[in-house]
Amino acid sequence: MNGDITDKREGTRVVQAGRRPEWTAGIVNPPVWRASTILYDSVAHLRESGGRDTHHRLFYGRRGTPTQWSLADALTSLEPGAEGTFLYPSGVAAISTALLAILSPGDELLLVDSAYDPTRNLAGGLLKRMGITTRFYDPMIGAGIADLIGERTRAIFMESPGSLTFEVQDVPAIVAAARARGVTTLIDNTWATPLLFPVIELGVDYTILACTKYIVGHSDVMLGSVTAGPGRFARLRDASLQLGQVTSPDDAWLGSRGLRTMAVRLRHHEAAALRIARWLAERPEVAAVLHPALPGCPGHDLFLRDFKGSSGLFAFTLAGGSDAARAALIDTLDLFGIGYSWGGYESLAIPIDPQRHRSVTTRDDAGPMVRLQIGLEDPDDLIADLDRGLAAWRATAA
Ligand SMILES: *Cc1c(COP(=O)(O)O)cnc(C)c1O
Repeated sequence: MNGDITDKREGTRVVQAGRRPEWTAGIVNPPVWRASTILYDSVAHLRESGGRDTHHRLFYGRRGTPTQWSLADALTSLEPGAEGTFLYPSGVAAISTALLAILSPGDELLLVDSAYDPTRNLAGGLLKRMGITTRFYDPMIGAGIADLIGERTRAIFMESPGSLTFEVQDVPAIVAAARARGVTTLIDNTWATPLLFPVIELGVDYTILACTKYIVGHSDVMLGSVTAGPGRFARLRDASLQLGQVTSPDDAWLGSRGLRTMAVRLRHHEAAALRIARWLAERPEVAAVLHPALPGCPGHDLFLRDFKGSSGLFAFTLAGGSDAARAALIDTLDLFGIGYSWGGYESLAIPIDPQRHRSVTTRDDAGPMVRLQIGLEDPDDLIADLDRGLAAWRATAA
């Protein structure tokens, strides 16, 4: 079991990945190894262990146990060409550690304007205080990013599709421009996961997942990861160890447990979300649907070129109406929870106001917007629920 699986298809890889015999001891699911202290046979053994590279060797709890190594190894093997993965206690911790590993005072970061809001807050907060400046760029900039790369530009951060508004970026064009100037690239790949968009083989240096979402898949664990491309892992690992980043073995174990069903779950999320997005697009109450697999979405052609499929998160714009009408819609829904995060088995709906989180691009949305996470419920039941919600919007908007 668990020989080379890189030539296998996605469903097989998520089942096999990370289950090295020396970590499972014959058990199907790698067990939870909890540890702070590791005991040595002798002083000589202790000295010997401390002096060498401790990657994948028990040393001290902060360096992890086979439970964390198994999940990290699995995530590495899902990204063809990747060198290694480090786990973090949240997606935000993964983003901040990756950026701190790369950037130094005086550097400039190019950050996509559609980035997840906490990423923007990091740029305007801690990074700024450390003397690292941020320039935001239009998600549709493509090869034009070359014009923004200056003497001090050290890294380009992408997120595709963008948070809230789902613009699909031209990742290969941005990577080519970055490589030509020796600039490091990072992407927040939480929406697609490596199953739908493997990015290391496209030349991205670091790919980041909020594993809290699809890897865990059950809305009950906070977890993040950064997977590094060739020659990039040591720098990430050093910074992560210096910052004391460690993930609990219980959380890593739940991440591994979730991963085994991710390919099946994603296929359901995709089919159900597409059906519901197309149904919404036909409705007179809806002005626009922002879903990368639908023609109206900016970068739809890039989605068709680069992605193997779509996942379960998208947004739509109402054809006018007040905030109160939007709230009436969302409050009427029975099957959609109202809450942050996504990627779990249950559906969610939240109001979104993307223009509040933009620096260099302006939006011209026809009305209030709603973001939906389509879970694993029967899509016909979700459509009936949304139908009732739209009726409530009509009653309030009229
Ligand atoms: C949720 C999310 C994160 C952060 O993950 P946490 O585990 O909640 O810290 C990062 N990026 C994107 C796109 C997200 O949706």
